[in-house]
Amino acid sequence: MTALTAARDLLGTDPDGIWSAPGRVNLIGEHTDYNEGFVLPFAIPHRTFAAARLREDDRIRVSSTFAEEPVEVALADLSALFPSEGDLRVPEWSAYALGVAWALRDLDPSAPGIRGADIAIASDVPVGAGLSSSAAIEGAVASALNDLWNLGLDPVALARAGRRAENEAVGAPTGIMDQMASMLGVADAATFLDCRTLETQSIPTGFTDAGLELLVIDTRVKHAHSTGGYRDRRDACERGAALMGVPALRDVTVDDLPRAAELMDDVTFRRVRHIVTENQRVLDTVAALRSDGPRAIGDLLTASHASMRDDFEISVAELDTAVDAALEAGALGARMTGGGFGGAAIALVSHADVAAVTDAVESAFADAGYLAPHIFAVAPSAGPRRDA
Ligand code: ADP
Ligand code: MG
Repeated sequence: MTALTAARDLLGTDPDGIWSAPGRVNLIGEHTDYNEGFVLPFAIPHRTFAAARLREDDRIRVSSTFAEEPVEVALADLSALFPSEGDLRVPEWSAYALGVAWALRDLDPSAPGIRGADIAIASDVPVGAGLSSSAAIEGAVASALNDLWNLGLDPVALARAGRRAENEAVGAPTGIMDQMASMLGVADAATFLDCRTLETQSIPTGFTDAGLELLVIDTRVKHAHSTGGYRDRRDACERGAALMGVPALRDVTVDDLPRAAELMDDVTFRRVRHIVTENQRVLDTVAALRSDGPRAIGDLLTASHASMRDDFEISVAELDTAVDAALEAGALGARMTGGGFGGAAIALVSHADVAAVTDAVESAFADAGYLAPHIFAVAPSAGPRRDA
């Protein structure tokens, strides 16, 4: 059964509509988003579907194939979901969808179209793999409510609502990249995003014409944003920016690094160096795609991985194994992608080498005694849409 059909079935009644939004993979630019820097993600073919129907009352009910029980809350009580305003406790998965409803309603609680709704979710985005199933669920729900409530919001406003839900309702301190990548997806192009200004440019990737595939290697090691390492890296970046006397590490360039080395301890410096060099690699990747095409970006991807492994220290053995095995088997470049501490790696591979790279990674995982990885190709894909 497709995820679209599953969402429709789960709703139990005829939906007013079915909306979907894609997951995303980040081609390059990791942990640069909350440093107000640059990222280059693209939406993937895997999508999350929201089948929805307006209600006669003011209650919002979300269900997911992912969860045993639906969760139902009165619209007026949604604000109590947020630790600063109340202590309503809901299962974490439901806070993504309910948080979007709250964030959209909070823009104008008296908007005439706002009513209760039943929303059923089903997805084919792998969860916790670094492919942003969270932005996909937010994008699908935001697109559904934008239409059903006649809000007329643009994709950037919907992306902001998704981020607000994730930061404030779920409590995951993530940047805006995931939501923007999902909301602004375009076939065969990546989204070059300036996370300070939210300006975007669509950058054609040209993978197909160059005979290339972008493989995702899902290590099946789950990551979790709300905990530990992610928060710690954000703190280190804030510390580094303060020591440099700038609002965000975006304002530090590669030429400033010798001064940074003198101003801070070794660990903070290496965190800073990752962000500063990664921002530059994003700019270099965009320039290379424009002038020379995708075969020219392989070394930048691989350099990004080394920086995350050695300076930012967010890789894990499974990700390093995936990257090393892919490169040895002929990938043009490879890196872990997403927040780190698990999740997926990507490898840019000539069509003719896909089987060899896949075999090499699977063998390396088997030899190391890891879970068998999930390996699949992703092509840059379109953003949210109404499917029915
Ligand atoms: P990622 O975005 O990398 O997949 P996150 O930890 O950011 O990982 O988001 C995953 C969480 O999002 C899940 O644990 C769940 O709470 C929620 N989620 C994602 N997809 C669904 C879904 N189809 N139904 C319900 N909750 C979902
Ligand atoms: Mg996420």
